[in-house]
Amino acid sequence: METITHNLVAVVIQILCFNFLIYPWNLIFTIIFAFISHIIVDDFAVITYHTPDPQKEDKFWLIWHYFIYGVSLFSIVIFFIPYWLSMLFANIMDLWDWFTLRPIQKKIRKKNPESKWGDKYYFHRIVDWVRDKLFFWLPRRIYKRSGVFIEIFLICVLSISLIFLEASIFII
Ligand SMILES: [Zn+2]
Repeated sequence: METITHNLVAVVIQILCFNFLIYPWNLIFTIIFAFISHIIVDDFAVITYHTPDPQKEDKFWLIWHYFIYGVSLFSIVIFFIPYWLSMLFANIMDLWDWFTLRPIQKKIRKKNPESKWGDKYYFHRIVDWVRDKLFFWLPRRIYKRSGVFIEIFLICVLSISLIFLEASIFII
């Protein structure tokens, strides 16, 4: 799913861990749960609008991505202090797969298109594995534009729960 959704889940996790656990367990479980949350949240991505490849000629795709990147950045700014640790671990799979491994792989494949280097180092293989085992029953709606409403709905539910959890917001 999108960064904002991972971030909001991460904030919920950090608040709950810090409310119910003492040091150092609050830190340890924040990291563990945030990491695991990426798998679960991404497994549900099949029911939302999630085209595997960028569709830059498609206006709908573009507007949705401008919007979702904007709110994702906004969530990083307002929650960075004090929730950066949980947000970092909730997004570490994307940081590694999309922003580290994939660019390296692209470079290698420019020289050697047959190269399979790196395929087995993708974190999202875990996401796919768990989906096959536990969430195979979810309908695949990744090309359905109405899927954006499911993600927006989730974002709203998470944001409202953050109000009840009295999340602190950092504004410069
Ligand atoms: Zn992901």
